[in-house]
Amino acid sequence: MTLLRASDARRAEIEAGLASARARIAAAERASGRAPGSVDLVVVTKTFPVSDLVTLADLGVRHVGENRDQEARPKAEAVADLSLVWHFIGQLQSNKARSVAQYAHMVESVDRPKLVRALSHAVESTGRPLEALVQVCLDDRPGRGGAAPQDVPGLATAVAEAPGLTLRGVMAVAPLDSDPDPAFARLAEIAAEVTAEHPAATVVSAGMSADLEAAVRHGATQVRLGSAVLGYRPPVG
Ligand SMILES: *Cc1c(COP(=O)(O)O)cnc(C)c1O
Repeated sequence: MTLLRASDARRAEIEAGLASARARIAAAERASGRAPGSVDLVVVTKTFPVSDLVTLADLGVRHVGENRDQEARPKAEAVADLSLVWHFIGQLQSNKARSVAQYAHMVESVDRPKLVRALSHAVESTGRPLEALVQVCLDDRPGRGGAAPQDVPGLATAVAEAPGLTLRGVMAVAPLDSDPDPAFARLAEIAAEVTAEHPAATVVSAGMSADLEAAVRHGATQVRLGSAVLGYRPPVG
C-alpha cells in the first residue's frame, strides 16, 4: 500500500479542496433552505491517480465517480479493499456494460433502451445489483449524452422494470456556456414527473464544480465534483 500513498503535500491539498467543497455545499443548502446534509457529494476522480483515491477514502469520502470504463476499471480493482462506492457518470457503450457492472454501484448515464437491456443482462452474469439514474439531456447539442426530456418517463419505466436494476432518479449536466439555472429548473420538473411515477426514485444528480450552487437551488440531492476537490484537470482530447 505504501506505493499508493500520496505525498504529504498532495494530501494537504486534497484535504483543503474537500473542506472547501463541503463548505460550499453546506452554504448552498442553507441558502436554499435545504436540510444540512441533504446533498451528497460524489468526488469525480477521472484523470487523477489511484493514490488520490486512497487519500480520499482516508479522508472519509465514500462516493467516487468516473466517466471512462478503461480508466475506471483498473482503478476500482486497485482499491477494491477500500469499500468505495463507484458511480459511473460517462457515456456508456452497450458493449462496455458488462465491464462496468463488475465494479460500479450506480450507473448515472442511462440514456437509451439498448443500454438498459445491456446493463440488465450484465447484472444477470455478475450477480451484483446495480442502481441507475436516467440521464437527461438539457441542451440541443448532440453528442454529450442524455435522453431527450420527452423520452425520460418511458426510459425510467424501462429501468424500473429491468431485472437487476433499481431506478434511483435522474442525472444531468448543465448546457455548455449558458446559464445553468433554467436548465436545472427544467431538470427539477422532469425529476418530479419521474418521482410521481416511481416514488423511490428521488435522486437528482446535478451540479459540478462550476455550478453546484445553482443545482442545489433547484433540488439536486447529489453533486459531482472533480476540480473543486482535486484541483486542475488537464482537458482530455
Ligand atoms: C468531469 C465530470 C464532472 C466533474 O466536473 P468538475 O467540473 O471537475 O467538477 C461531473 N460530472 C460529469 C458527468 C463529469 O464528466
